[in-house]
Amino acid sequence: MTEMMKAYRIVEWQQQPILTEAPVPTPGPGQVVVEVAGNGLCHSDVGMTQMPGSFGEMLGWKVPFTLGHEVGGRIAALGKGVTGFKEGDPVAVISPRSCGSCRFCANGEDNNCDDSVVGRGYGIDGGLAKYMLVHSTRELVPLRNLDPKIAGPLTDAGATSFHAVKRALKRIRPGGSAVVIGAGGLGAYAIQHLVALTSARIIAVDTSGERLAYASELGAHDVLDGVNPETAADVRNILGGTGADAVFDFVGIDSTIEQGLRSTGKGGAFALVGAGQGALRSGTWFDALPKDGEVFCFQAPTIADTLDVIALADAGRIRVDADFFSLDDVALAYEKMERGELRGRAVVIPD
Ligand SMILES: [Zn+2]
Ligand SMILES: [Zn+2]
Repeated sequence: MTEMMKAYRIVEWQQQPILTEAPVPTPGPGQVVVEVAGNGLCHSDVGMTQMPGSFGEMLGWKVPFTLGHEVGGRIAALGKGVTGFKEGDPVAVISPRSCGSCRFCANGEDNNCDDSVVGRGYGIDGGLAKYMLVHSTRELVPLRNLDPKIAGPLTDAGATSFHAVKRALKRIRPGGSAVVIGAGGLGAYAIQHLVALTSARIIAVDTSGERLAYASELGAHDVLDGVNPETAADVRNILGGTGADAVFDFVGIDSTIEQGLRSTGKGGAFALVGAGQGALRSGTWFDALPKDGEVFCFQAPTIADTLDVIALADAGRIRVDADFFSLDDVALAYEKMERGELRGRAVVIPD
């Protein structure tokens, strides 16, 4: 008889996920089973539960599947032929699949691989269960000092923000500046990445006083309370009359996009990361877009981004703040996350 475990799963499209049972996975040749130490919850999980089935099927996702795509854990079982890892090794898991051989993968853009639309926690079983199957050791990141319980959020929230910061780095000049709009999960990591990688003056913008205090604690030099029609002018005031070298919008609604673009200085970068469905417009006035600037869209992180972020955290150069929940309380954890009641990432520890 197949052994079963508790799992939080999408069982039917556009229905609330449920805490149910799923078979404990066994590793095939080249595969590994990870015992989940902690799984970070992400806003996109909630989006998935509302997604039309036709869209999910177009992506190649099959219900039921277990949610959870921010996983840290320990190797529990090794399939035939697996080398380089042993039982008990602490690892973080890269959620998206990637083939390793297409032209994107060959170019280090595994985040753009056709296979990456399917990943553990979206389309196949993820980390909201005690055990999770990993299809190749290419998808594992060994941990040295970092507690696997808190490593999961680094692979998604941490690495996605790192991808955006790294991409804008060449635009951040000596004596430079950066604006982070939305200082929650991804934005808080972006502030830490900017501190670790640049000497930029960092301005954090958020509607929550608590998150702004957290942003200052992480290294933001100035904070602005929410986005309003004066935000770009306020940014330029702080920066002595010029726009910022880089602006990261982790919200992505009309007002943050407009004020974010207007806050971007000449030759600057505007990174649209938040999926708030706002409109990106070139604007009526010539100054709505930065002269010789660069606008780029959300992309998921690469394996290399994840390796970098894990290395930074392993060396104690960025920190992970987490609020822990049991698998029985997973629905409550999502509610608290959606209501903005958490300071750190919600991390579920399966039992
Ligand atoms: Zn996510
Ligand atoms: Zn590929």
